[in-house]
Amino acid sequence: MESKRRRKNPEAMPKKGILERLRDGVVIGDGGFVFQLEKRGYVKAGPWTPEATCENPEAVRQLHRDFLRAGSDVMQALTFYASDTKLENRGNKAGQTFSGKAINAAACKLAREVADEGDALVAGGLSQTPTYLSGRSKKEVQVDFQKQVQVFVDNNLDFLICEYFEHVEEIEWAIEVCKATGKPVAATMCIGPEGDMHGVSAGDCAVRMVKAGADIVGVNCHFDPSISLHTVRLMKEGLERAGLKAFLMSQPLAYHTPDAGKQGFIDLPEFPFALESRICTRWDIQKYAREAYELGVRYIGGCCGFEPYHVRAISEELMKERGKKSMATEKHDLWGGGLLMHTKPWVRARASREYWENLRPGSGRPYCPSMSQPDEWGVTAGSQVLMQHSEATTEKEFKELANHAVKTRSRK
Ligand SMILES: [Zn+2]
Repeated sequence: MESKRRRKNPEAMPKKGILERLRDGVVIGDGGFVFQLEKRGYVKAGPWTPEATCENPEAVRQLHRDFLRAGSDVMQALTFYASDTKLENRGNKAGQTFSGKAINAAACKLAREVADEGDALVAGGLSQTPTYLSGRSKKEVQVDFQKQVQVFVDNNLDFLICEYFEHVEEIEWAIEVCKATGKPVAATMCIGPEGDMHGVSAGDCAVRMVKAGADIVGVNCHFDPSISLHTVRLMKEGLERAGLKAFLMSQPLAYHTPDAGKQGFIDLPEFPFALESRICTRWDIQKYAREAYELGVRYIGGCCGFEPYHVRAISEELMKERGKKSMATEKHDLWGGGLLMHTKPWVRARASREYWENLRPGSGRPYCPSMSQPDEWGVTAGSQVLMQHSEATTEKEFKELANHAVKTRSRK
């Protein structure tokens, strides 16, 4: 099996680059790594840093493989939050055990290894830093980015992604560093229709990302597929008004967030340990894939909560446009067709598109609300409570935070 999976001679036929693929059709991204690996016991919720690339490479490799099999065209190296400053923030010890360089290099190797088992590309990613949130200078923030980007260049990754930025100023700084490598650059912010944390509109964020050098722009994380596509639409309109062109990208959550505030799902009281009742079904994701495609988005993937079966749903919805199906579809007859083989006749009766497209799934939680009240503290870059520091949170600090939370909630 192992040898069958590997490309016979990866050197013989160079892979098509990301921009060429986007010009010719649609590119399917991957899904959420840190959320999935947290559930499997390899990532700690809180810091969310990816030292698993060194500690448990087989777990990371397997998740890449699951996404490749589901139809992902891009393996994103697991470099999320892998800046030296994030690896040693608020009591996180990861940075004392492994260097940022080692974590990033291991991530690049794992992603490349699996990408070469198919026709996927490898991307290295930068994300927002505690350095920026601490109000430090452009130069200091770019030093953080430069260290990661050097590893991506040394490993000759195919393109670079700046993702999960809440402030357009910081993503501009990240794009500049990436652009200097000469590699294609994708840039996605974790914002909703209200724009970035400093009040810059989604349309203006897109314009500024393109002007900074991004070839592909859009959103990732923080909001559900439909809110994310609404934001991408605003970005598209902003670019059109400015007479600018770029490929569009969306990698939303696979959680429904109609009640989220400006900071998206991290404001929801269920974040991060009780979000399960909000999970999108595979059918929700097929709908998302179609809507994204019709909006003109050509890089379609997902972020937290997005599992391989969600990626497979994108690849199935866009099978005709792509002219191919994913390996995982071999085990998934379209629109529930496999249920025709079910023993129970009422389940066989569900083997249709009409059934699954019109289903309104029950949550099975009779005493729970379907919407929540988000926390909205309104703190952003420069606030004292966001400052980078390596010491752990003290009991006194925790008590103050918990009291503040109770007071904020009772005011609502
Ligand atoms: Zn995410």
